[in-house]
Amino acid sequence: MTMTVQQRKIEPAQDAFRELRGPLTEDKAIVAASRCLECGREGNPAPCTVACPTHIDIPRFIRQIYRGEPLASADTIFTANVLGGSCARVCPVEELCEGSCVLVQEGRRAVEIGRLQRYATDAAFAAEHQSLSDRPAKRSRGHIGIIGAGPAGLACAAELLRLGHQVTIYEARSQIGGLIPTAIAPYKQWTEPLPQEVAALQRLGVQFKLGQAVGEGGLSWQQLEARHEAIFLGVGLGTDVLVSLPGADLKGIWPSLEFIEQLKSGNPPELAGRWVAVIGGGNTAIDVAREAVRLQASQVTVLYRRNEAAMPAYAHEVREAKEEGVRFQWQTMPLRFLGAGQVSGIECRRTRLVPVPGDRPRPEPVEGSEFTARADVVILAIGQRKRTELLEQLPGLHLKRGLLQTDERGYASGKYYAGGDCLTGGATVVEAVAQGKRAAQAIHQDIERGLLS
Ligand code: SF4
Repeated sequence: MTMTVQQRKIEPAQDAFRELRGPLTEDKAIVAASRCLECGREGNPAPCTVACPTHIDIPRFIRQIYRGEPLASADTIFTANVLGGSCARVCPVEELCEGSCVLVQEGRRAVEIGRLQRYATDAAFAAEHQSLSDRPAKRSRGHIGIIGAGPAGLACAAELLRLGHQVTIYEARSQIGGLIPTAIAPYKQWTEPLPQEVAALQRLGVQFKLGQAVGEGGLSWQQLEARHEAIFLGVGLGTDVLVSLPGADLKGIWPSLEFIEQLKSGNPPELAGRWVAVIGGGNTAIDVAREAVRLQASQVTVLYRRNEAAMPAYAHEVREAKEEGVRFQWQTMPLRFLGAGQVSGIECRRTRLVPVPGDRPRPEPVEGSEFTARADVVILAIGQRKRTELLEQLPGLHLKRGLLQTDERGYASGKYYAGGDCLTGGATVVEAVAQGKRAAQAIHQDIERGLLS
């Protein structure tokens, strides 16, 4: 089941911290921009803009780069997406804007939209240009409480501020940015330009209450409801789901988020010469596997209980991981971790896939197919816990499999609106931004109609 592919050498400089989608020089940016056909017209936007969840006017910002106006280009980007600099680094552009570029449909290479977006937003930060300095003349229509300072909460705040409302963001942790500072693999985004994006929001007037939990043990829901006309829940997901298999407490077994957090602390785990096994089939599994390659692991293998077609990870990232030397053992499930003190291997069993109408196939263990996979480091990337314990404190909310349910405007119940991973179970940063914006517009409409007080 291990595949052989044409391997792409990871250069020594291309280490765990070097971002994959690097910057463009001015000359290269203008050449890249010159390839854009400026599709779309009034009322019929370009396919790349349609594919962007925040609907950035992509041909416009590319044209502004081509004309030598990167700061105006950044204004176009940030007006639609307050985290446009971060999204330039972490968006799965192959699945979104670049995947929809008409050049691809003609069998040509897509315009490098992600790197052009990075070029314009980097230029704005370097010039300390303030794209979001437009304060509305009339303020204080409402005072909205936002729970969670992740991408959905930040985007919701930006939109509400622009619409003339006051915003306070409550965040239980001491950091702003949700998963970006801790859970985005550094080869995609280290930290920059998140601090500059947050500073832009602070200039707009958002108030942050960091280290402020809500619900049981924190600020009560009643207190929040008394303070605010509306409350946006952007609470994201929790810590890694852990496996309760024998040997799970051996040394060398990492939850994926702790592994990434350690990496981002600048003090990465020592993996040189190690055999690394990653358990899981999502995008985080691919991220930690590719980081392990960059940390010079001797061998990196992803173990996944279904087949390649059923992997939730993006196909282009799986392909790139293979090119970098990551191996895959599909239809494989762990039974127990082996070792004395330190993990040294995983006893595994093969699975067979049983079709399930309308869903992914169900993996069933194949008795007698057991084998041992060598591993002296194991990274668990099975998923993140849902925030059920927090959301169940609010009786009016409707949860389905631990995920919050809203209407198409992001309205949940009573004064509550929501967006981001607590709805989706873990989607992209740009999707969370779009949901934050959507809920802000719904809150604004409902305040204007006198439905909230
Ligand atoms: Fe430019 Fe491609 Fe978008 Fe057309 S689809 S406007 S060519 S980036």
